[in-house]
Amino acid sequence: MRKLGCRLRCPVCGSTEIYEIAGGYMGNVYRCKHCGYVGAFVVEANEKLAREIERQYLESKDDGDEDSEAKDDNQPRR
Ligand SMILES: [Zn+2]
Repeated sequence: MRKLGCRLRCPVCGSTEIYEIAGGYMGNVYRCKHCGYVGAFVVEANEKLAREIERQYLESKDDGDEDSEAKDDNQPRR
């Protein structure tokens, strides 16, 4: 029995666009079409958890972009 609303999702970006690319000896390996993740680990998540994963993914992607604190590497070292 599967719970309604739970689907296999990429653990990195929360996308449902994952495909099984290998099986058998190594077990299943999945590939995410969205972010390029490849691995045996996928999450079975409902909408709420998926949104949480997506939010964290987007936050990590934006890291340093709008945050001026991360841009202090431009100082000359003399
Ligand atoms: Zn992904």
